Parts: sequence; C-alpha cells; structure tokens
Amino acid sequence: MRSLVLEDFGRLTLHHEEEPHPPAGCVAVAVAYSGICGTDIHGYTGSNGRRRSGQVMGHEASGVVLSTAADVVGVSIGDRVVINPLVGCGACGACLRGQAQQCPDQSVIGVTPSSPGAYADVVIVPAGNLVALPAALSLRLAALVEPLAVAVHAIELGRPQRGEVVAVLGGGPIGQSVVLALSVLEPQARVLISEPNADRRRLCTDLGALPFDPGSTGAGAPTDLVIDAVGHPATYAAALSTTRRGSRTVVIGLHSQQVTIDAFALTTGERSLHGSYCYTPTDLRRAVDVLTTRPQQAATLVSTVVSPEESAATFDWLASPAPPAGKVLICFTDTNEPVAAHR
Ligand SMILES: [Zn+2]
Ligand SMILES: [Zn+2]
Repeated sequence: MRSLVLEDFGRLTLHHEEEPHPPAGCVAVAVAYSGICGTDIHGYTGSNGRRRSGQVMGHEASGVVLSTAADVVGVSIGDRVVINPLVGCGACGACLRGQAQQCPDQSVIGVTPSSPGAYADVVIVPAGNLVALPAALSLRLAALVEPLAVAVHAIELGRPQRGEVVAVLGGGPIGQSVVLALSVLEPQARVLISEPNADRRRLCTDLGALPFDPGSTGAGAPTDLVIDAVGHPATYAAALSTTRRGSRTVVIGLHSQQVTIDAFALTTGERSLHGSYCYTPTDLRRAVDVLTTRPQQAATLVSTVVSPEESAATFDWLASPAPPAGKVLICFTDTNEPVAAHR
C-alpha cells in the first residue's frame, strides 16, 4: 500500500509497504479520502511541535471496511465509515462519561506519532472508533465529518439560543465548518464572520454569515457568543471587547500557547471563556447529520482534491502565504468518483 511519510519537516515522501493487518479489537479501513488539517500543515512545517519525523499523519478520513480482527462483532467488510481518530483509555472517568477528549491517556490516530494515520491506502482503527455513514452521504463529503464535529462540539459548549448574535472569529476550514453547522443546529442565530482573507470570508458569507470587523468602531450590537477558531492574542481580546456582559466565548483555535487577557472584562462583565477540543461520539454523529442535511453547502467547503502523488507539492501550497480558501482532500481510492472528475 501507499503511505505518505513525514520524513522530516518540509518533506513528505510516498512509500510502498505491506498492508497492515488489524490486531484484536481493530479493523482495517481502505481509505477513500483524507482531509488535510491545519494542524497537519503546521506539523509539516514543524511550527507547532505536534508531529514527529517518520510519522504518517491523517486523522480526517472516510473509507470502507477492508478486514476485521476475528473478535470484532457488528462491523462488516464493505461498511462505509468515517474514523473517529480520538482513542481514549476506555477506563477513566472521562471515557466512562463518553468524553474521551478529556481522557488524560488519549491518543489521536494520525496525530500521536505512534498511531499511524490515514495518509495511506489502509488505516488500522479500533472497531469502536468507526462512525457508520448513511447511503445518502458520499465518501468525499464524509471526509468533512471530523472538522464538522470539531465545530459541532464548540457549538454544543456555546449553547447558542434563537435570535442570538454569534461571532465566528477566523474563516478557515474550522470557522467555515462552524458557520455551516450553525445553519443547521441554530438556524435562528445571527451569525457574523471575522476573516481578513477575502476568499475565505466569501465562502462564509455564501453560507449565510455576515462580515464583521471586531476592530472597527460601530461593529454592531455586542455579541452574545463568540466562537474563536484562531486562538490568537488579538482574537481573545476581540472576544472580550465585542461581547455583551454575561456573554460566552468558546475557543477552538490553537494559534498561541500563551496569551494575556483583560481579566477585568472577564470577571466584572461576568463573561465566560471555555476551551473546546475535538468532539464526542455524539458530535461525530451530529456532524454526519449536518452534512447529510446540507450536501450542496458542504461541497463548497472542499477547495480541491489531489492524489497521494501530488500531496507533497500540495503541502507546500497549503503552507504558502496564499493557501486555498477551503479544505483540500487527498483521494486514495474512490470507485464511484475518480480523482480526475474533481478537477
Ligand atoms: Zn483536524
Ligand atoms: Zn480515559
């Protein structure tokens, strides 16, 4: 099988190796599409320190079950699935509450260096980490389930109410996913988008968001909820200065590890600041529903589809100052939709 190995920062190479066989409790998934995540790009350049040389990345994958270990029940060869890359220990309080994203012993397939990811023809996944797909959802759009689930989780934590003003900070693929998910989960919210890149901003306004510049005077009514898909000192500041008292801010973005905030705006304004990381299995199923409900809108989130052979050059493009507005998918196999058809 082919696998894309991060040989060193800035260097991805296509390897040919033996197909892995699933150990007890696991299944082998023939990867159809693998999305390229912002964290993979920062891992590729080495800027986030969250990837290691020699690893196979890829955690946003759709595919078809290829084989199962003898002890696996309830999964059949040929099942169309997406993978939940977040693997909890299964025994701690967080895992028992269904919140594996809070497990202190979690690993993430394609992120944790010892867990080979889905930039390969085949990925090994615990059977409990498969999410079944409805026939109506294409494998291509299903590669968006993981980033959509990140958005759904943040929205669940922010609890937007009918009629509220929700500001989304950052219109990259995660911000775009938040705008799309809000249109289904809270269609009565008034959604604003703050994004300096015109192509990304247009993608979000086409999904129903209104452009918003938190730096301008008269930015409009104070917002009730901020979803920060950037995590930069400036977006933390915007979240605390453009919201009403009693507002909520949910931060997904990982731009900066250390920030200074206006603590008095937080305390005397009774504002709350909530971190959001990954998703629960329920969020993944909701993401499947969002994509199945809005396939045309979801399709606008995919900028291009490339082959594994084109991936190294694609990472350089994504790390450049002029990346595409939306998501890039790597197509490993799709019998229904040849790669050429997407060009
Ligand atoms: Zn991701
Ligand atoms: Zn655990």
